[in-house]
Amino acid sequence: MRIGVIGAGQLGRMLALAGYPLGMRFMFLDRSDDTPAAALGGNVIGAFDDPASLAELVAGSDILTFEFENVPAPALETLPADPPLWPPASALQYAQDRLHEKNLFAELDIASAPSRPVDDLEGLRGAVAELGLPAVLKTRRLGYDGKGQTVLHKQDDIDAAWEKLGDVPLLLEKFIPFDFEVSLIGVRSSTGETVFYPLTRNHHEDGILRYSLAPFEDVALESQAQSALNAIMSRLGYVGVLTVEFFVSDGRLLANEMAPRVHNSGHWTIEGAVTSQFENHLRAIAGLPLGGTTVTGHSAMINFIGSMPDRREVLALANCHLHDYGKSPRPGRKLGHATAVTATVEARDQALQALRRLNVN
Ligand code: AMP
Repeated sequence: MRIGVIGAGQLGRMLALAGYPLGMRFMFLDRSDDTPAAALGGNVIGAFDDPASLAELVAGSDILTFEFENVPAPALETLPADPPLWPPASALQYAQDRLHEKNLFAELDIASAPSRPVDDLEGLRGAVAELGLPAVLKTRRLGYDGKGQTVLHKQDDIDAAWEKLGDVPLLLEKFIPFDFEVSLIGVRSSTGETVFYPLTRNHHEDGILRYSLAPFEDVALESQAQSALNAIMSRLGYVGVLTVEFFVSDGRLLANEMAPRVHNSGHWTIEGAVTSQFENHLRAIAGLPLGGTTVTGHSAMINFIGSMPDRREVLALANCHLHDYGKSPRPGRKLGHATAVTATVEARDQALQALRRLNVN
């Protein structure tokens, strides 16, 4: 079975690492062959919307998927029905535009932070008057890892925020003084079978995921989150892994954003669950039975951002697994991660502290 993957970053790399034991083969489309996934399959080098490159990927694939969200939607509309593309292109269109995503959440009665679309400076002033401050101004498209957003604390911040982001369509969102953040990863196969991983608790620093802890055991929150994902997956005829990130505020979930793909907050599932999110994504899009999502222990996953620690020091820690994506260092860039899986919460917290000490940046 040949899987064609749009994007060849670390998510593509980890998909391939999970797929080879199932007898799958991979071909990646990306703008260069200097990518984390390049060594793991065939490579088509070209823009994501280059018709000839897409045609080459289509010709070499039995199933198409993507590991990168900002694939130009019109390019996907030109793809033939066969090979199938999973998750469906419609999921990508919602995830690519924060306003469409908000509208989807509202349509499905999924609570999220109050927000207003903003198209000009007057509109921004009006939105601030309606929502109050503090508030977060976000670009509707192409924002990730805290990029394309700025927090407004006082009226005087309006002009600077507009100056910083105002040349594209925006969304102003009420600032949520949340207690913490969680995400839920769900998987739906083309046969309709659906499974969920336990909730993951996530810690962001400067808008970028720093570390995740799982399982986060809260039956009430988990069932709220599962209802939200079930609603999204049914509405979109979804196939593959779907991740939704939530703020937890006063015991209530507010959906922050959805990612129609395998997700950084699910990397712990590689060693910390019976079946990883990567393998389950592949099983789902291939119509194979889904694998168990039971945890094998308490997991802590830490991202290495901007620089990698000494690999010997990571590997010297008990129960730790290192993932080096083979990327050249750059500030703010995710270069790798490590996961510790332990028998107790206390041992997990100790492992997290040890990992944090190795890579303080
Ligand atoms: P996003 O790109 O929307 O996922 O935002 C990145 C991170 O910024 C989130 O994980 C939160 O930690 C923070 N953030 C985003 N929106 C809000 C908000 N409305 N209120 C408080 N914090 C936010």
